[in-house]
Amino acid sequence: MLRATLVALLPLLLQPVSAVPLENLHTRQQSTFVDCLSKGNVPIVLASDTSFNQLSQPYNQRLKYTPLTITLPTTIDHISATVKCAGQYGVRVNARGGGHSYSAQALGGENGHVVVDMQNFHDVVYNQSTGYAEVGGGARLGNIAQKLYDQAKRAIPHGTCPAVGMGHPSLGGFGISSRNWGLMVDSIAKVEVITADGALRLAKPSWNGDLLWAVKGAGPSFGIVTKFYFSTVPATETIVNYSYSFSGLSVDNAADAFLKIQTFAQTAPKELGLGVSLWGSGTSFELSGAYYGKTQAEFNTLFQPLLSQLPQPSSSTVNMKGWIDTLIRFAGASTLSVPETGYSERTTFFAKSLVTSQSSPLTLESMKSFFNYAATKGPDAANQGLPWFVIINLYGGGDSAITNSALLDQSSYGHRDTLWNFQLYATINSLTPTSNSSAVDFVNGFDQSVRRTGDGAYVNYADPTLSRDESHTLYYGGQYTKLTEMKKKWDPKQVFWYPQSIDPAA
Ligand SMILES: Cc1cc2nc3c(=O)[nH]c(=O)nc-3n(C[C@H](O)[C@H](O)[C@H](O)COP(=O)(O)OP(=O)(O)OC[C@H]3O[C@@H](n4cnc5c(N)ncnc54)[C@H](O)[C@@H]3O)c2cc1C
Repeated sequence: MLRATLVALLPLLLQPVSAVPLENLHTRQQSTFVDCLSKGNVPIVLASDTSFNQLSQPYNQRLKYTPLTITLPTTIDHISATVKCAGQYGVRVNARGGGHSYSAQALGGENGHVVVDMQNFHDVVYNQSTGYAEVGGGARLGNIAQKLYDQAKRAIPHGTCPAVGMGHPSLGGFGISSRNWGLMVDSIAKVEVITADGALRLAKPSWNGDLLWAVKGAGPSFGIVTKFYFSTVPATETIVNYSYSFSGLSVDNAADAFLKIQTFAQTAPKELGLGVSLWGSGTSFELSGAYYGKTQAEFNTLFQPLLSQLPQPSSSTVNMKGWIDTLIRFAGASTLSVPETGYSERTTFFAKSLVTSQSSPLTLESMKSFFNYAATKGPDAANQGLPWFVIINLYGGGDSAITNSALLDQSSYGHRDTLWNFQLYATINSLTPTSNSSAVDFVNGFDQSVRRTGDGAYVNYADPTLSRDESHTLYYGGQYTKLTEMKKKWDPKQVFWYPQSIDPAA
């Protein structure tokens, strides 16, 4: 016991400081670390400061952690000094972007980390001469889309929620335009990133290419990206927005309809974005999406053969929208603009994901099991304070840009060969230990109703109940071994750590 205590104390005893009473260890570590930050003039927020509570709140209120310190850098030097001090004093570091991680991993996923809040790095500039969007590491998707459109009518593929930040492209980044243009991670041309030694490094294919590869898919384990350079495309103004609702189906009819959608999806052209959503009562679902750069007549020609095989929709909408209005529609918002600093929306939920490969399409049997779970367990959950939804997004099929095999080696993103990505999500109306465990059990049961051996999961829908090993296998698949080699090279002491971060190779 005494020996274990001495080993634990060794790093502190080696510091040029006076003896530390055991009960003051935490305070001592904080004051020495904070002294170090102060020497670098880093703007810091301590637990005793009035803004600490607001700044340390997770978006997902189910998971609360108390950082040792929060820094609010305004310069690259501030970030560099923070990472250097953290390395020196053995404090773990996490960047906070939009704060929308499902597992609150920007707060470290445990108490006692230093959180580098990137909200002051929110610039979005379209560079006419390079065609790149230069985007700060603390920007949010809605502001990026609106600013690029206003500056140059340009676009990047990305997800729906305007307040999501730059964790999104660091770990993947799917949106309804992704079959056409790729994931947001695929648009990263280069980055400027502070690595574990505190150095600012440029990473591009011809310079620190291995670091770029690692950041593109597992960014939070490798550094703090201060600036992304994204390739852009012209914003499409002719997008067919469609939605068909099917209600009152039996389990067998819903499963059969899904299989027909899957058969159609396997050869669908990349311009088609498609998702199946269900909630509440179970077997009613909505088939919706967007068809890029086409006319409504072309959409009808493409979709009619599928519709003719499905049950009669209870309602439908098909209309044309421009790029910004399409994003607004999928965001379910009235505007894309969100506060650049001081964002404070919160919710409470448990979610997880299931990723299927193109080589293993869903079977009628697995979809019957899935819809049976929705029909038998869904209504009770919704009535007992756990409103839920499932969105099944089409990633692959046809000539989808996501599954382009030429992209396999260009990023560490783990699931190039995806057909469907299920997001299974329950809001917790009133958080108690009972409602919490009911939500976890309900969502886990949904997952189990359809999961087969070999199915994966999507790291941007991080499930904090997965063990470190499970998360590595499910999120990164065949990319994981190389990621561990990269971690050994770029962050062997795991300065950037959270419960599901990449381990360095032995
Ligand atoms: C309402 C909502 C809607 C969503 N919609 C979609 C969707 O349509 N498609 C989709 O693919 N995903 C979606 N997501 C998931 C989202 O992509 C992830 O939660 C994403 O990781 C959040 O990024 P963030 O910066 O907002 O979160 P944070 O919690 O700030 O960060 C998430 C992770 O990224 C790291 N990170 C953040 N910024 C940086 C940086 N500059 N440098 C290095 N690491 C950084 C953090 O340390 C943390 O590990 C949605 C999430 C929510 C809550």
